[in-house]
Amino acid sequence: MKVNNVEMVISAVGPKQYPEDGLPEFALAGRSNVGKSSFINRMIGRKSMARISSKPGKTQTLNFYKIEEQLFFVDVPGYGYAKVSKTEREAWGKMIEQYLTGRSILKAVVQIIDIRHEPTDDDCMMYDFLKHYNIPTIVIATKADKIKKGNYEKHKKIIKEVLDMDPNDPLILFSSEKGMGMEQAWAEIEKRM
Ligand code: GDP
Repeated sequence: MKVNNVEMVISAVGPKQYPEDGLPEFALAGRSNVGKSSFINRMIGRKSMARISSKPGKTQTLNFYKIEEQLFFVDVPGYGYAKVSKTEREAWGKMIEQYLTGRSILKAVVQIIDIRHEPTDDDCMMYDFLKHYNIPTIVIATKADKIKKGNYEKHKKIIKEVLDMDPNDPLILFSSEKGMGMEQAWAEIEKRM
């Protein structure tokens, strides 16, 4: 998709604030610092629309970006951030869980992981949760520019194995730095709209 028009519609703290346009929604999930904001910015062709490396743990919101009047990216707060208090973490869990399991126009979750490392326990927990609720998932292995091309297949294999990926879920190598994987990521999203 060629993106010219993006509007950050709402930073929602609860369901009453979610948009009611009925447009298909794609949620973006990932461990803090994994490169989620960079992924969003690259996909929408903006340098800093989604805040890069914003400090997590303050207000936990679901940020809705309306793209070309056709779909929403819903930025989910980064998971697995140790410094967030237990109460905050529970509040995080509840809002996200309700959104992910109860939002009928949610078409898929785009889960961002770091290609360089084995998926963490938090990554696996998130993926298991999505599969438990039969939520279609597009896995993005980002920061691909940081490993050698010759190692792509090896890393892909590890990710598929450790996450125990459903063969119906795509795994896309991505680089926000280079723009690699962008067309493929858009194609997988558009297929599910
Ligand atoms: P977030 O916390 O998940 O939103 O992560 P950010 O998007 O803020 O990225 C965390 C750090 O990783 C930043 O310093 C980014 O510049 C860097 N980063 C993100 N994506 C890439 C990528 O594809 N390649 C490289 N080399 N660095 C990246």
